[in-house]
Amino acid sequence: MAIATVNPATGETLKTFDALNAGEIEDHLVRADQAFQEHRRTSFAHRRALLHKAAELLDGDQDDIARTMTTEMGKPLAQARAEAAKCAKTMRWYADHAEELLADEHPDPADVRDSGAARAVVRYRPLGTVLAVMPWNFPLWQVVRFAAPALMAGNTGLLKHASNVPQTALYLEELFRRAGYPEGCFQTLLIGSGAVEDILRDPRIAAATLTGSEPAGRAVASVAGDEVKKTVLELGGSDPFIVLPSADLDKAARVAVTARVQNNGQSCIAAKRFLVHDDIYDAFARRFTDRMAALTVGDPMDEGTDVGPLASEQGRSDLEELVDDAVHKGATALCGGRRPAQHPAGWFYEPTVLSDITPGMRIHYEEAFGPVATLYRVADVDEAVRIANDTPFGLSSNAWTRDPDEQARLARDVQAGGVFFNGMTASHPGLPFGGAKRSGYGRELSGHGIREFCNMTTLWYG
Ligand code: NDP
Repeated sequence: MAIATVNPATGETLKTFDALNAGEIEDHLVRADQAFQEHRRTSFAHRRALLHKAAELLDGDQDDIARTMTTEMGKPLAQARAEAAKCAKTMRWYADHAEELLADEHPDPADVRDSGAARAVVRYRPLGTVLAVMPWNFPLWQVVRFAAPALMAGNTGLLKHASNVPQTALYLEELFRRAGYPEGCFQTLLIGSGAVEDILRDPRIAAATLTGSEPAGRAVASVAGDEVKKTVLELGGSDPFIVLPSADLDKAARVAVTARVQNNGQSCIAAKRFLVHDDIYDAFARRFTDRMAALTVGDPMDEGTDVGPLASEQGRSDLEELVDDAVHKGATALCGGRRPAQHPAGWFYEPTVLSDITPGMRIHYEEAFGPVATLYRVADVDEAVRIANDTPFGLSSNAWTRDPDEQARLARDVQAGGVFFNGMTASHPGLPFGGAKRSGYGRELSGHGIREFCNMTTLWYG
């Protein structure tokens, strides 16, 4: 894929970039390694000041970087601004909490004595340079939620961003440089995915984190496994949104729409499959479909737009194929199911609700990465759990019920990295984030996220 900014609202190529050559990649690796040797010795107070400065600069740049993101991948401008604000908040959170999250641990004195030591300490030391392979859907957030903890832990970062968001990628490098980070602490590599393997095999790279598709995750994890390097993978999802009779139906239907179409439907933690109890199915389906059909599709730079274009032409044709396959096999499009006639240019797709889904349809098992919801009628909690788990993915899940027994049942049985009751899945710097099954492994955010790329060292004093 060419490294270029192509406006998905028009299909126009605005700027192209040359990929780095082998010598330039080597220069980046040298700088990253040298920077690590310095950065790992710095104090938390020093790192805290740097990250606070980056957050302050990002707040000042909010409107400009939001426009760049919207231009490169098509998310509505207000959502791009909110993404930038969340990144600054997360930088501050890690700046203020990292020291405490990585404080020395003191094992039980009885165990220390039993091991023959006078004293023993567990210390979280940085690992080295972490390679981050990142996607375009939250082009700032996906990077910051890796970079903020990594830099606070004393690691250095090399970013291989998606090829369609090069200007956002270059902005991030510049942001950390302006904040005062030494050269090499955080660098962007403008490279295609074919260049990742050699870099990952380089001994100066300690570990890798990838957010993206399952094939990309498998490719990077295979190489890392061969090199015995740590990875964190955050891959796709097809999160269930379960609605049971005790739910506040109006609220559930309203939140369901946001949960499905946020970021033009291109979010790993978007609710994608709506499993609704028979008793309330018709009432929910009507409210949900009416709201989906009423969304404004249009130019993501317009403040009144709810849903912009998909990020790429390929993304839209992948989504169209999933919908067409389902309709061909008997699904009913309650709304949408086609490109909007009023937007012939750009990669738009109408918000769509499909019912009568069966396991023979591709969309039952595959991730719909766009504004397309599937509706299922379920007889009881047992059937809801069965369908919720009938997917290769296990990222997060949503469940609407006020019944404590049903909540306990779902908390025990839904196979996912999160169960969000009476609300939609959202990430927060203080809560662990990640998946089960083919949605990946490892955790981002919170104390769990920052410790993923640390060398947990046992110090034993005889
Ligand atoms: P990809 O997984 O292909 O891209 C994500 C990142 O991985 C990009 O930086 C990409 O680089 C890189 N990459 C891709 N293949 C390899 C490889 N073999 N080795 C190393 N790096 C690689 O996502 P797409 O943009 O193609 O989207 C396809 C689907 O992936 C979506 O429809 C969706 O289902 C899922 N997805 C999930 C996301 C999530 O948040 N979990 C985010 C994005 C996509 P390059 O851009 O240069 O190809």
